[in-house]
Amino acid sequence: METPVCAETFPIDGCVKSTSKKSKTSRSVESDIESLYKAVPQLAKTFRIIEKIGEGTFSSVYLGEARMRDGSRDMFALKHLIPISHPTRIAAELQCLTVVGGRENVMGVEYCFRKEDHVVIVMPYMEHQAIVDVIRLLSFEEVRLYIYHLLKALRHIHQFGVIHRDIKPNNFLYNRKAKTFALVDFGLAQGTADTQIELLKDLLGIRKSQRPVFSERNLNSCTSAASTTKQTNRTESVRPGDLSNRRLPSARGGPASVRTHKLQRTAQQTFTCSCFQTDRVCNVCLARKQQVAPRAGTPGFRAPEVLTKCPNQGTAIDVWSAGVILLSLLSGRYPFFKASDDMIALAQIMTIRGSRETRRAAKAFGKAVLCSRELPRVDLRELCETLRGRRPSPDDEVPPVTDGKDTGKGSTGKTPAPLPKGQDPTPGEKPWSGLCDERGWDKVPDEAYDLLDRLLDLNPNSRITAALALQHPLFKGL
Ligand code: ADP
Ligand code: MG
Ligand code: ZN
Repeated sequence: METPVCAETFPIDGCVKSTSKKSKTSRSVESDIESLYKAVPQLAKTFRIIEKIGEGTFSSVYLGEARMRDGSRDMFALKHLIPISHPTRIAAELQCLTVVGGRENVMGVEYCFRKEDHVVIVMPYMEHQAIVDVIRLLSFEEVRLYIYHLLKALRHIHQFGVIHRDIKPNNFLYNRKAKTFALVDFGLAQGTADTQIELLKDLLGIRKSQRPVFSERNLNSCTSAASTTKQTNRTESVRPGDLSNRRLPSARGGPASVRTHKLQRTAQQTFTCSCFQTDRVCNVCLARKQQVAPRAGTPGFRAPEVLTKCPNQGTAIDVWSAGVILLSLLSGRYPFFKASDDMIALAQIMTIRGSRETRRAAKAFGKAVLCSRELPRVDLRELCETLRGRRPSPDDEVPPVTDGKDTGKGSTGKTPAPLPKGQDPTPGEKPWSGLCDERGWDKVPDEAYDLLDRLLDLNPNSRITAALALQHPLFKGL
């Protein structure tokens, strides 16, 4: 692991750790930096660690400055993986970066340090903005470019048989000014059956052995082995107003409950289950064996086949996540889906894509989805324009429902309500009135919504691939 990827990059007599006062970094960050220097002392020979730029459950990322052989200084991102990560998992992440990265909008790697169980991956530093900070400023053209570059990165990694599994804006660095993009974080990546990344093949063996930590990396969604069994079979009550801080179309008549089953093959088995249209899980379902399937990622970006634990998942799951990002960018809302749990995430998808359509698609990949209510599919242009405040919302007349208690009145269930006052990131912007600077949002072509529709195809078998999506007429001229 200590073999340099690019041996020429660093001098051994590099810069000395700075003792200057770090005014912006907090005490805890300073002590984290100290601990990192202690854990991996070689770092100090090359880097002055300036600040922490990212902290996840499984890593901390620091900004480091190195003095190069020619005397110039360069910035690097130092990703310190938590020491309990499985060696093969770490090696696989590194191999993805070395084999696939460094081109086509995929982050590359410069070097890797290890001391005992501490591993630090050194990448070129890319300055970037958080999507939440720029989403309401982006022009339609910028959105078109963003999604084009994301699809380019996906086409590239998919060609190598790499499934990223955690496609979301935090893992796709975007520098708005420089118009540069980089896909990062292969910490959850998996290989397709014919993957060219050897270590991703080895990971399959690890997942089969009992190490829950490697099949579930995201603590937001992490459930212990014991609680997973329960969770799988638990019925979720979904309150229509529970969809993040905005209201999405909802059918009337109390909470909808959603659950999934492995599609039953015999009439006998179907007959014995008695949970349909109840808000409880019957004993038959409680006794079902838990379906084991990869489920990593962030709930709001998970494809229906991931949410329903379909055992054969492919590169199409990343394409779905790209669709959720496009939906977010076109509607100006981030995050778009915010779910704490897979069944809530599935219910949120149904509010947009339709419950009947979701059921049908799930059937195609061998899953039975039950939803106690009929949720109509919504028109994507109407949805996005309403959320952008370019169309009046039905909730302008009647207050929207915010929880399961239905008033019997309210929205038509066709279009979602805008954010309540004060939550809109662009105060002062008059809804659906002529803006002096439309940034292209007054003439979004149908192609944008057509591509969105294909990315958010509920059925992974017919979902567009990244390669084909790049040929889409939306990208004419790019
Ligand atoms: P994690 O597995 O903890 O999510 P990531 O690889 O996604 O780790 O990195 C976490 C964050 O660190 C990213 O969201 C990004 O903000 C920042 N980051 C990661 N790599 C780089 C890089 N090469 N340049 C600049 N920032 C980076
Ligand atoms: Mg990440
Ligand atoms: Zn049942």
